[in-house]
Amino acid sequence: MSLSALGKAISSLADQIRLIAIGAIAVLVVAIIVQAQAVISRGAAVERSLRYDIAMTGLNGRVDAVNAKERFSSFMAKQTPEAAYEAQLFYEILLGRIDTWLSGAFRAFVGRSNDRLEMLEHLRDDLTTLSPAYADLPVTEDTDTIDETLSRAVAVMTRIGGEALMHNLREAETTRNALQHQQRIQNKLVLTLIALGAVLLVLMSVQSTDLKRARSAAERNARKFQAVSHRDPLTGLPNRLDFNARLDAGLREAAGTQGSRGLFLFLLDLDGFKGINDMMGHIAGDRLLVSVARCLRETTNEWGDARAHVARLGGDEFTVLLWGTGGLDDALEKAEALVEVLRAPHDLDCGQVVANASIGVAEATRSAFDRDVLMQNADLALRYAKNQGRGRALAFDKSMRAKASRDKAIEVELEEALSKGHLVPHFQPQVDITNGQVIGCEALARWQHRALGWISPAEFVPIAEASGQIVALGEHILRAACREVRWMDSRLPVSVNLSIAQLAQPDFVETVADALHETELEPQRLRLEVTESMVMSDPERAISTLERLKKLGVSIALDDFGTGYSALSYLRNFAWDEIKIDRSFVQTLESDPNSLSIISSIVELADRLQIGVIVEGVETQSQLRLISRTGCRVVQGFLYGRPMAPADFAAYLQREIPHPE
Ligand code: C2E
Ligand code: CA
Ligand code: CA
Repeated sequence: MSLSALGKAISSLADQIRLIAIGAIAVLVVAIIVQAQAVISRGAAVERSLRYDIAMTGLNGRVDAVNAKERFSSFMAKQTPEAAYEAQLFYEILLGRIDTWLSGAFRAFVGRSNDRLEMLEHLRDDLTTLSPAYADLPVTEDTDTIDETLSRAVAVMTRIGGEALMHNLREAETTRNALQHQQRIQNKLVLTLIALGAVLLVLMSVQSTDLKRARSAAERNARKFQAVSHRDPLTGLPNRLDFNARLDAGLREAAGTQGSRGLFLFLLDLDGFKGINDMMGHIAGDRLLVSVARCLRETTNEWGDARAHVARLGGDEFTVLLWGTGGLDDALEKAEALVEVLRAPHDLDCGQVVANASIGVAEATRSAFDRDVLMQNADLALRYAKNQGRGRALAFDKSMRAKASRDKAIEVELEEALSKGHLVPHFQPQVDITNGQVIGCEALARWQHRALGWISPAEFVPIAEASGQIVALGEHILRAACREVRWMDSRLPVSVNLSIAQLAQPDFVETVADALHETELEPQRLRLEVTESMVMSDPERAISTLERLKKLGVSIALDDFGTGYSALSYLRNFAWDEIKIDRSFVQTLESDPNSLSIISSIVELADRLQIGVIVEGVETQSQLRLISRTGCRVVQGFLYGRPMAPADFAAYLQREIPHPE
């Protein structure tokens, strides 16, 4: 039976019970009324039998008549004055009796029959006329009349007395019948009440069974609903709802016990899942998620005494809640193990897929017994893991939070800084090592923040790239750099860094042309630096933009060479004017002999392709000596000068440069 049908049945049963209860109350009221009536009528009957006991009066009347007759007969026999007196006395009694009979209740009875009344009145009159004769006793002549009248009195009074007795008997019968009738009604009412009570009992017990059934059905449904609503249909893992509930419970437990077990939250995200989804389709994406879920479940199941709970929050986001005894280091090791397991190719129906995962780990500590705080911490750690090259696990530490709020402040204030001119280019010299001449400079953005001091572009450029502000920032630095160098030295070229978002702007070439026009800088003095990754994302479009830029007369440099794929095809596909060898090779020059070989090879290759080369990051004389052996002529580095404010750089250009030995 469905829950709603059961509900309806129960409510109709409840209606029935209500009706029956109302019926029972009505019957009870009727029973009470009947009972009250019975009491009243029984009382009335008793009263009647007390007040008008006519049978007894009738009997006494007959006795009085008989007595009067007997006493008169006795007088006739004895003829003594005593006997006469007695006869007179009983005659008086008889007269008194007849008076009683003709008054009050007995008169009412006698009056019911006119004959009877007449007969009695007649008798009374006849007896009354005997009064003088009685008064003359013992001397009287009319004894026959007396005797005859007394005989009639006996007959009349015996008859009326008998009728009174009969009347009384009939009345008693009627009363008994009425009482019996009431008794029967009462019995029926009581029986009806008992029956109604029984029906009520049965219905209530049926209702209670139905209620029990309804309750257990409701509980079953609730459990089913809970199970469905707490599960992710794709992977079968608990979902976000379940995870939240478990995390809250875990946090309460952790806050309450302070025990040896720590609570750790892993936030896991697949690297490049969107790409897999786009390239291989959603079905493959779904299968990958199922495979990842299985890996997570199997691996965490093997963690022995550490309790772990895996969930899918949505998309390619998974979580593991770990109650572990080994502290944060152990939790991090476990997260790294998960990254390692997931690194193995996943066998999907459509082939093998490799999907690295990044994990942020956060521990529920006294300051993070809060779901939101713990989630934020794990999320921060995850973002750091992603920024540090993905495919790794990182544990949250407080500096990440400080960095996150600093990043936020930087993002918020960047716009104002741009409009107020707080962002300016500094210039770093590029030097010909054969003669010490400054042959160019690189414009590097600097931000003098009123509270934070000088902020490095390594910090604010990625933030601006993420927020989209990089386009405005790049254009601002481009115009400022062109303007500054325009007045410094009539020949000196300037290199300006580009960002991928700028290169992707449809009107970027026009922007550059406009900046050149506005600042009146000859296009030959502007060099734009791009990195390999900027070209790689959309090579055709990027190269076409670069070619249009070259047509303006601007030259193009390939920055940070050696750090990316360094695909030689890019060297061939575009007529680069300059390659900038990344400073990481210089830093390892003295420790890693390969670095020198790589620099030599690139220099040689660039020579052959007639591309200029700059080695970046030269800090020491010994580095310079080694580099000079590779045939490289131009370097940029702290050895010659740090990036300088325009005025300082202008002064720097004026001074005599010592030739390095
Ligand atoms: P980059 O284009 O590779 O710039 C060279 C970086 O190396 C500069 O860092 C420079 O100060 C530093 N450097 C130069 N010589 C040495 C040395 O001898 N030793 C060491 N340790 N470092 C040296 P900076 O100015 O902090 O810029 C960092 C990065 O920020 C730049 O790397 C560039 O990618 C980006 N950037 C700077 N300004 C802009 C800009 O206006 N637009 C864009 N899109 N990116 C910019
Ligand atoms: Ca650069
Ligand atoms: Ca560089």
